[in-house]
Amino acid sequence: MSIISTDISKAVALLTNEELVAIPTETVYGLAGNIYSEKAIKAIFETKKRPFFNPLIVHIPSINLLSDIVDYIPEKAQQLADAFWPGPITLVLKKKAIIPDMITAGKDTVAVRIPNHPTTLALLKQLPFPLAAPSANPFSSISPTCAQHVEDYFKDSIKMVLDGGVCESGIESTIIGFINDEPVIYRLGSTPIEAIEAVVGKIEIKNKKEVAPDAPGMLERHYAPKTKTVLTTQLLETINKYNGKRVGVITFQSEINDSAIDAQMALSKTGDLVEAASNLYQILHQLDKMQLDVIIAEKLPNYGLGKSVNDRLSRATKA
Ligand code: AMP
Ligand code: MG
Repeated sequence: MSIISTDISKAVALLTNEELVAIPTETVYGLAGNIYSEKAIKAIFETKKRPFFNPLIVHIPSINLLSDIVDYIPEKAQQLADAFWPGPITLVLKKKAIIPDMITAGKDTVAVRIPNHPTTLALLKQLPFPLAAPSANPFSSISPTCAQHVEDYFKDSIKMVLDGGVCESGIESTIIGFINDEPVIYRLGSTPIEAIEAVVGKIEIKNKKEVAPDAPGMLERHYAPKTKTVLTTQLLETINKYNGKRVGVITFQSEINDSAIDAQMALSKTGDLVEAASNLYQILHQLDKMQLDVIIAEKLPNYGLGKSVNDRLSRATKA
C-alpha cells in the first residue's frame, strides 16, 4: 500500500505522536520530526543513516517564532530573513539553550528557515513545535523532488509522505552563517548568490569542508547517483572516452547527435538556469535507474543557479 497522502491532519497526528512524516518544500522533500522529541530526532538520523555530526535544519512557519529558537539575530540576518522568507535561504544563528544538541550536532548554532510551500506552511501552523527536516533521502544519495522518490527510498521505514507535488526549485536551500555578524555562504543552493548580494553586499563562499569546519556535512561526495558520474566542459571528448560503454548524458540545453549515447536529457531546452536547477535531481533519478555505465554531465555557466547546480554535480562525481 502506498504511504503517499495529502491528509494534513494525519500528518499532524503522526508528528504529535513523535513519528516521522516526509514533507514537501519548495527545495526538496524533507524527513520531518518534532525538534523536541528525542525519539523522533534519533529516528531521522537512523532512517537516513546520517552521521550524528551532520546537523539538521529547523523549519518554522513564521518569522515571529525565530526568537524562540535563536538567541541573537545580526542585522544582516534580519535583512535576509525579511527579504527571502518564506523561501530557500537557511540562516545559521546562535541557538537558544532549549534547542536539543542532537539537532545541532553539539554546536552552539542552529540552522533555521521558513519553507515556501503552502502544504507544509499549513502543517507547521497546526503544530505547537517546529520540525527538524533534512532531505528525505538515504545519506549522500540523490535528494527527492517528488513524493514518489521518497516512497521509493523509505516505504518500509516511515508511515507517511505528505504529497505536495513536484518541488518547484528542486535543489536544497542556500545556507548562510555569520562570522562577526557578517554573512558567509556555507552551502550554495536555490537562492542565487547574486540575489543575496543585492541585499547584504559582497559575500564570501566557504562551502568546502577544509575551509569551513563550521559547516559540518559539506562533504565532498554528496547528492550522488549510484552510477559513476562525470562533470565536464568537454562533452564530446568525454563521450568518446567511454566508447563501447552504456553512456548517459546530461546537457544544459542542447541535444547531441552521437550514436554512442544511450540516453540523454537536457536540464533546460531554453537555457534557463532556474529551470535547470529544478530539473537536476529528477533527471539524475531517471538516469540512475537505466543501468548505465556512466553519466556524463555538462558543466553549466558558473553564475546564478548554474553555480549551485555545478556544486551539486561536482559532489555527485566524487568516488
Ligand atoms: P540537509 O538538511 O540534508 O539539507 O542538510 C542540512 C545541512 O545544513 C547540513 O549538512 C549542514 O551543512 C548545514 N547545517 C545545519 N546546521 C548547521 C549549523 N549549526 N552550522 C553549520 N551548518 C549547519
Ligand atoms: Mg541532504
